[in-house]
Amino acid sequence: MNDDAGAPSSDDEVLFGRLLNANDPTDNVIPIRPRPGESVEHDDILAVSRQLPEPGSALIQDLGVSGAQAAIYSMLHARRDDPPTMLEIRDHIVATFGEAQSQTDRRVRDLRKYFVIRSERGVDGEWHYHLVGWKQKPSVDTIPISLRVRAEVLASQRCAQCGRTPSEDGVKLAVDHKIPQAWGGGNEIENLQPLCEDCNSGKKDYYATYDSHSEEIKEAILHDEPHRRIGELLKAFEGKWVPSDLIGIVASAKQYQEDYQKRLRELRKLGWIIKSQRRYHEGTRVRTYYQATHCEPWGDGPIRAQISAAERAIKEKRLDGGAKP
Ligand SMILES: [Zn+2]
Repeated sequence: MNDDAGAPSSDDEVLFGRLLNANDPTDNVIPIRPRPGESVEHDDILAVSRQLPEPGSALIQDLGVSGAQAAIYSMLHARRDDPPTMLEIRDHIVATFGEAQSQTDRRVRDLRKYFVIRSERGVDGEWHYHLVGWKQKPSVDTIPISLRVRAEVLASQRCAQCGRTPSEDGVKLAVDHKIPQAWGGGNEIENLQPLCEDCNSGKKDYYATYDSHSEEIKEAILHDEPHRRIGELLKAFEGKWVPSDLIGIVASAKQYQEDYQKRLRELRKLGWIIKSQRRYHEGTRVRTYYQATHCEPWGDGPIRAQISAAERAIKEKRLDGGAKP
């Protein structure tokens, strides 16, 4: 929510600053070929468990990884269980590109700006290069939003919430995470939107009031079915009132829900008791809140099918009722 569109975000600064800065101190963390007895383990604590990108994926391209570097990454990725030596990496590069060997060391070192590549002494006495994981960023362990994605998100040049524009209203637009990163929201384009500074800071303040529930919200968002995401969110609030816009965000976490209120009402057919209330904010703005006073355990099979079955049962009951007045 802090991303600033006017200047590169801190993440982009880290990314592009590193690409340009040859004196990056992180280059010195592990020498490319450590001397015998030299510690090569201390970078491990910087490895994060996030899944490594597939070779050739958009994520790799977004890092600005060049052709030869991408080829090295592919090789290291394929041989994580059998890490190659520098000689093998060089041979691979020469075979692929016919390129001068002197560049290979530097290319591996450049990859270490993003990934933990451990130097391990093999039984053959040679150094092997083991791709371990992403390198943790100094501040946040999130993937930076690439300039390409950033440009796409901001292409409308209009705040997604209030509709103001930089050209007509002089607002500054920022890239906002619809589901905050603290709640498990990612950098996929569906989770990003342009917001003006006012809307962005308003949203930030508003969401901060739910910080104590962030773990439960994170859990609720993980479920595949929208009904379950909504139900788990209401459960997490333990009978407290939950604002509708928060429900809307959680409901749409995996796929956009045009009518999340309908999904919410459908839970009632499964026996949930959900109350609603309208509250006025600052005199004019109306916000609806929902509260689950009774929850039902999730049955077997898809929730959508359970709701259809419940609807059929209600219909049949009505027909029966009509037949026997
Ligand atoms: Zn706005």
